[in-house]
Parts: sequence; structure tokens; C-alpha cells
Amino acid sequence: MQCPSCQHPESKVVDSRETRDSVRRRRECLACTSRFTTFERVAFRLPTLVKKDGRRQPYSADKLLAGLRLACRKRPVTAEHLDEVVINVERELARRADRDVTTEEVGALALHELRSLDHVAYLRFASVYHAVRSPQDFLGVIEPLLHGAVESSAREARAPAILDPDEP
Ligand SMILES: [Zn+2]
Repeated sequence: MQCPSCQHPESKVVDSRETRDSVRRRRECLACTSRFTTFERVAFRLPTLVKKDGRRQPYSADKLLAGLRLACRKRPVTAEHLDEVVINVERELARRADRDVTTEEVGALALHELRSLDHVAYLRFASVYHAVRSPQDFLGVIEPLLHGAVESSAREARAPAILDPDEP
């Protein structure tokens, strides 16, 4: 795994944590000493994704993380938070693994997680990945935030990602 900051190929493991679904490793780049996380999943069978143009591609946690990192630039969101987002998205994807899953669905799942994490990151991610093409689309994305639907909507009834009670 290359360092996301400087692309140096070598890093050392500074911390390791096992969860129900994965082993997380905090790594430190041997070149620039920046820290990042990698994680290996145990049993998720993840679906192949279907893109808008119909082409298929394997799901990639790295791609998802790259998009999330971009949306969260200069926001108070930690690498651990983003790991939680990815793990929660994958947990949901694994449940849909017996059918085709579109890249939009993955975007929508990630968006759902971001909403409880950081509103600015949520809006950034939404504008890029959630097919926001018109002011009306954008309103649809903003409205839940304005009306505090994060807490009240029935659709949002499950616990926020980062407060997942299954996590130690
Ligand atoms: Zn580095």
C-alpha cells in the first residue's frame, strides 16, 4: 500500500486492531512519516459494480476512500471515521452481493454515512457522486440537513455509523 501523501511504497505498522469484519492497521510512511490506515476484510463477498455506461468493475475500497478523502479535505473527519464509513458501506454491499450493484448505489450508501459525520463533506460528496445536475437536485440534497431530518426521518432510524453499537 502506497503512502497516500507521497506515494512511497513502504510503511511500518504502528497499531493493529481487529473488529468483527476486518483487521485495521495504522501505518506510518517510512519516507514522510504521515500516518494512514489499511484494512483487510475477513469475509465480505462484495458485488461487482455496474457503472452508468453499463461497464462492470470490481468494487474498490481504495477508490471509495479516495473520493471520501477528497470530500473531507480540511474537515474535522479522521481517518478512522472514514474507515467506519467504508466498513459500513461494505457491510451493506455484502448484503446485496447476490445482485448487480450500481456505482450510484455505492455513492448513495457513502452519502448516507457522511450525513451523520460532516455536513460540508456530505454536500461535497453529494455534488460529485450523487448525480446532482440541477438546482432542484441540490435542494433535494440540502433539504434533509435544513430540516434536521438526520435525527427525525424514519429512514435514518438506525444508529449513526460512527456510533455503531457492534463496534468495540
Ligand atoms: Zn509518505
